Amino acid sequence: MSTVLDLANAIFPDIKETVADLEKRYPKRNLVDGAEVTRFAPSPTGFLHTGSLFTSLVGQKVANQSGGIFYIRLEDTDTKREISGSGESLIEQMKVFGVVNDEGYFGSYEKGDYGPYIQSKRADIYKIVIKDLLLRGRAYPCFCTKEELDSLRKTQEENKVIPGYYGEYARCRNLSLDEQIRLIQEGKPYVIRFRSLGNHENKIEANDLVRGHLELSENDQDIVIYKSDGLPTYHFAHLVDDHFMRTTIVSRGEEWLPSLPIHLELFNSMGWEAPKYAHVPVIMKMDNGVRRKLSKRKDSEAACSFFLQDGYPVYALKQYLFTIANSNYEEWQIQNKDLKLEDFKFTFAKMSLDGALFDIDKLRYFSKELLSSYSGEKMKEEAKKWAKQYCEELYNLIISDEEYFAKIMNIEKDKENPRKDYEKYSEILNKVKFFYNQYYLDMMTQPLPWNPNMDKEVIKNVLNDFASTTNFDKVNEQEWFAGLKELAARHHFAENNKAFKANKDLYLGHIGDVAEMVRIALTSSKQSPNIYYVLNILGLEEVKNRIALAISKL
Ligand code: GLU
Repeated sequence: MSTVLDLANAIFPDIKETVADLEKRYPKRNLVDGAEVTRFAPSPTGFLHTGSLFTSLVGQKVANQSGGIFYIRLEDTDTKREISGSGESLIEQMKVFGVVNDEGYFGSYEKGDYGPYIQSKRADIYKIVIKDLLLRGRAYPCFCTKEELDSLRKTQEENKVIPGYYGEYARCRNLSLDEQIRLIQEGKPYVIRFRSLGNHENKIEANDLVRGHLELSENDQDIVIYKSDGLPTYHFAHLVDDHFMRTTIVSRGEEWLPSLPIHLELFNSMGWEAPKYAHVPVIMKMDNGVRRKLSKRKDSEAACSFFLQDGYPVYALKQYLFTIANSNYEEWQIQNKDLKLEDFKFTFAKMSLDGALFDIDKLRYFSKELLSSYSGEKMKEEAKKWAKQYCEELYNLIISDEEYFAKIMNIEKDKENPRKDYEKYSEILNKVKFFYNQYYLDMMTQPLPWNPNMDKEVIKNVLNDFASTTNFDKVNEQEWFAGLKELAARHHFAENNKAFKANKDLYLGHIGDVAEMVRIALTSSKQSPNIYYVLNILGLEEVKNRIALAISKL
């Protein structure tokens, strides 16, 4: 009669190391009290999803603020879904968002004492643990074919019982050891299943750092832990890796919450203490009044790269994601404008419980606030970096004269309440075009938005007077504006709207009409930043040229 040892050796003849050896190879980490070891465990299946960025930010934050370790592990056991090269590019994209790990997988290399950090390189480690389970009768080979499993599912559906491989339905769990060994030696394909001792009618208690105390049905499924390709399933790799990498908090998407009973039973079966768990919300969006998960295929905002391309600053997106992470973050940031994200104390308990709703308006708000806080010089640098990658036209404009562009970006930046002109870098080009002659001349070939009720002769006289008397380059804004009022008065325009309304018969209009004429002449549009700054950036000669051109178009 065969023994479990025969079975274990029939399956893994070359595996000689034991779990005890692994415990020695990966000793407990020597960290200060309260230091948390967290990880981000992406699968190399595509671009960096906004939800994954969110999860990784949380992992990084928790480790950093506790003086712990944040590491990255590449979960590449699902070879069918793998997209070659996407592991490296995930790391590159995370770097852009400042998510840099202390240890683990870095794309082109790995660093740390708890590796390898790429699951496909850990095959032997999993085998050691599976061998241990086989030896204790807690795992067994399953020879059921796909057809057999399909037909099992059908029967279960028809009989309205819980689907899966468990209890009386787990056919292979009762094969004798002799039979198992014989089938293996015959070369019959198999997977290895965990032998569950649970009963789904029992309740177990668990704690989730986000959700608090939970009561869940015990696991009774004999889940697959080892696939026929020689690699473990997610569940088993999670057990082994998070144990031997000495993770203290597993923060992962809430889609894993239903699997928690499986994971707790796995840890239990090894006599290992399970890590703390935090199941973080999935990011949702409103679609025609219905909340749904951000979809990789349908929603451009599911890819982090979308926000970069669209010109949102990285930091604003991170701030925005923190409003999802912690309900008190936004208020904290508003009250502590000078403090940075790094200063914020994150707590799992303040995370929203059900799917967090993506709110682009909030992102816009943070982005606008952030960009308005940048000096002209900083804005130039940041816009240049963005444009270099995403907008050649703007890039060329910036590098044609960096000082000039910085001046444009600096408009009303030195004031106490700096202007909030831009929400994202992609808006800059259209808003600054008029400063550049190659665009301005072209814009002036279009019909100009003059006030139709204003006599063309009056406009001409005002503009001529303006060109010959303006002294913006010699005086401050108030003095310049006082001069503009005098000019207005000379041409029968009231010094403000109120005065005009009180005495309409006396005036042709008010100061606003005069400013509008100048604005249209200089920018071809009724909207522009503060005209005093525009004048100073353009310079006297250019102002005169533009006014002459505008007059010729009347
Ligand atoms: N590779 C898993 C995923 O991408 C990781 C889940 C986890 O963090 O444990 O969903």
